[in-house]
Amino acid sequence: MQSEHISGGSTLEEDRRFLSLKTFHSAGRGPWTGELDADWNDWRWQMKHRITSSAQLQRLLPTLTSEELAGAELTNHKLALGITPYFFNLIDSEAPHCPIRQQVVPRAAEAQIAEWELSDPCGEDDHSPVPGLVHRYPDRVLFLVTDRCAAYCRYCTRSRLVSNASGYDFHPEYDRQIAYIAAHPEVRDVLLSGGDPLLLSDEKLENLLSRLRAVPHLEFLRIGTRIPIFLPQRITPELCAMLKQFHPLFMSIHTNHPRELTTEVRTALERLADAGIPLGNQSVLLKHVNDDVTTMRALVQKLLICRVKPYYLYQCDLIAGSAHLRASVRRGIEIMRELRGHTTGYAVPQYVIDAPGGGGKIPVNPETVLSHNADRVVLRNYEGRVFEYPEAADAGPIRRARKIEEYEFI
Ligand code: SF4
Repeated sequence: MQSEHISGGSTLEEDRRFLSLKTFHSAGRGPWTGELDADWNDWRWQMKHRITSSAQLQRLLPTLTSEELAGAELTNHKLALGITPYFFNLIDSEAPHCPIRQQVVPRAAEAQIAEWELSDPCGEDDHSPVPGLVHRYPDRVLFLVTDRCAAYCRYCTRSRLVSNASGYDFHPEYDRQIAYIAAHPEVRDVLLSGGDPLLLSDEKLENLLSRLRAVPHLEFLRIGTRIPIFLPQRITPELCAMLKQFHPLFMSIHTNHPRELTTEVRTALERLADAGIPLGNQSVLLKHVNDDVTTMRALVQKLLICRVKPYYLYQCDLIAGSAHLRASVRRGIEIMRELRGHTTGYAVPQYVIDAPGGGGKIPVNPETVLSHNADRVVLRNYEGRVFEYPEAADAGPIRRARKIEEYEFI
């Protein structure tokens, strides 16, 4: 059928798809319809009933392809299979290319490893002064809390480590991690990650956050988590009340497709936001998942409705066995060009490549500065129109030489 063209180059069909992606739905109960509400809404019940074997997957997903079945058989040697019942219900069983399915159902292609792919694509192990701590940037550290997640993403940057299927034997040592931070006054920011820190019990997490808060030079704590998406039942009022004691505490969630933002997730995110926790989202650009502008625009706009700022869009790291999920950088730049200026600035994430081998995050932007010299900057706007801006003179060395004390709180 010929699509009807309407304003801005979009089609009526695309507009309909965009609006349907922006609708909030419940994940429902699916095969677990008979379960008690109290069980279904209990995060520990969800964890206990995860799909972790190819036999379970075959039973619950009769449309499993031979490629997926072969992938599920591989997982005991690579990254484990794990899907919460809640998240499983978002899979469209009739669609082999379902964007939810692609993220958590393994495929045989995971066994194909290109020569440029790496088990530690961001070089974290080379920047690890003590087990479980990564100190790559000058003023902040990554504190790995656990190797467990509620579900396992098939493109995980830390797939060498999480789930412990490949025998990495990860053992964080909180005492040594905290002692390192206490001995390094230049560290002002700690990001708790893993694995997923929100899988710790409230008591354990509170103890860890209290110990970190007792380090006088730490200004700022962050938690990186996919729990609100895989297991929204974990975001209880008790958890939020506990987290609230540790401000300034920020949280980075991870979601890739607008269908992940259900009514359950929205409630969980609102609860965190009501506890005063600023929320940001990190997405990974994934082939057949979110590598088109309609999906990405629906995702970022829906995130703002859930009170989450789209923070980073990552080019997928060169993780061993992830080529089938990696979209091109060209596609990423095109999407960014279609977002910037076409939607609210708050909705636009920064597209980055985490440089292979440990170079850190490098922003990748559509070209907007066409030329720049001492007199002028030539710029291109979101419509492709070109503008000139006269260059200003910089402040002299006296104004620049301010001391850090001038900015301290009194
Ligand atoms: S939740 Fe994060 S750490 Fe866990 S598998 Fe997914 S990407 Fe990896």
